[in-house]
Amino acid sequence: MLLALKDVFVHYHKVAALQGVTMDLEEGGFVTLIGSNGAGKSTTLRAVSGLVHPSQGEIAFDGKEIHRSPPDRILRMGIAHVPEGRRVFPGLSVIENLYTGAYVRKDKEQIEKDLEKVYASFPVLGQRMGQLAKTLSGGQQQMLAIGRALMAKPRLLMLDEPSLGLAPLIIKEIASILSKINEDGVSVILVEQNAELALELAQYGYVLETGRVALEGEAGGLMNNEHVRRAYLGI
Ligand code: ATP
Repeated sequence: MLLALKDVFVHYHKVAALQGVTMDLEEGGFVTLIGSNGAGKSTTLRAVSGLVHPSQGEIAFDGKEIHRSPPDRILRMGIAHVPEGRRVFPGLSVIENLYTGAYVRKDKEQIEKDLEKVYASFPVLGQRMGQLAKTLSGGQQQMLAIGRALMAKPRLLMLDEPSLGLAPLIIKEIASILSKINEDGVSVILVEQNAELALELAQYGYVLETGRVALEGEAGGLMNNEHVRRAYLGI
């Protein structure tokens, strides 16, 4: 198992954001976390990337405990997190933003090759490499945020609501790139409000409700599940 969460609790002061979350991800897998606002999806990603620490439970990556590790060590181990709201550095250029993603690496030649790969996935970033990030459109900034995460050469890429506020055409483009990234061997955890999109892309899904896994299963099965259809697909 590449990633395993076992009975994870996270508290923000007295608020229990996660109340015993257990989930697994195989190497090369693509899972999605769906659920309504406040269900604990972002907190799950934050716990994996070390931005918050569980008050109880365990998180293991590649067989090693990571739930007490700081975020930079977790990034070095191969977990990259694209947070909600595409927080790129607005005053840095596209290429400078991309290089910040590689700050944990020393393999200069490979970094250059990975930069070319990012430009191949997102041609618009190559065309605008000298432009300040703040001058990009929302969709382009999301692409930059994903590209920057890829520059860390992650084994696991976690994305929080990449489709938020974007036009359907851009969402489609980003979705197909995520599939491609996964086909290239990077494991993916996708947090999405857009459950339909998420279940189309992922192989397996977890439905979070008030900090707990209410339901899990193959994405196709969840898509046909009565509760999921009513609560999250609006059918
Ligand atoms: P959203 O899509 O709105 O981000 P989510 O499913 O990602 O929802 P979380 O953001 O993980 O949910 O929030 C889980 C719970 O923790 C919610 O009750 C939320 O109010 C609370 N929470 C989140 N962040 C904090 C914080 N920094 N301080 C206090 N409570 C928080």
